[in-house]
Amino acid sequence: MENKNKVVVDGLTFVPYLTRDEIEKQVKRVASEIRKDLEGKKPLFLCVLNGAFVFAADLIREAGINDCTVSFVRYKSYDGMSSTGCVKQLIGLTEDIDGRNVVIIEDIVDTGLTASCMVADLKKRNPESVRFATLLHKPESSKTGFRPDYVAFEIPPKFIIGYGLDLDGKVRNLKDIYVVED
Ligand code: IMP
Ligand code: MG
Repeated sequence: MENKNKVVVDGLTFVPYLTRDEIEKQVKRVASEIRKDLEGKKPLFLCVLNGAFVFAADLIREAGINDCTVSFVRYKSYDGMSSTGCVKQLIGLTEDIDGRNVVIIEDIVDTGLTASCMVADLKKRNPESVRFATLLHKPESSKTGFRPDYVAFEIPPKFIIGYGLDLDGKVRNLKDIYVVED
């Protein structure tokens, strides 16, 4: 599947975009920003499955905050709009986040719909703070004006795979990030 640095999946060709070294450098930068903001505050890292698991594993270890806790959430999409105007419902959050400093960890913010729904949902549960860390942000795709607190890379609105990001559930395992060929 991986041939001359290109990756072909489901008939689509992807070319190298961000190397593992570039990713590591930016993950370290974001981790040190988080450490500065949250050291001593016993943060709760909330990894959004499935896509963010690789980024979260690296980011949490780089942040080096030993009294953090880590949990995992997913989304269930609504067919229509809920009363809150959100199209996605948070599932799997079992912790009481009352008084906690929560850091959401996402793979990518595209329209910002998922992110803004999640932040709104968590804020109803009385945390001390909610911050949002994302590996990738496509500001030009925003439909919400949502601005993440921590961003490893701002990218143009093109389709990306690798380092946790998938095409139809595949290629999350790739160590580098690839972009769909023009
Ligand atoms: P949003 O609600 O439009 O911001 O969508 C965010 C979600 O869309 C992410 O969590 C991804 O699952 C998916 N997504 C958006 N862009 C990409 C991409 O370029 N590659 C893979 N998944 C993507
Ligand atoms: Mg995702």
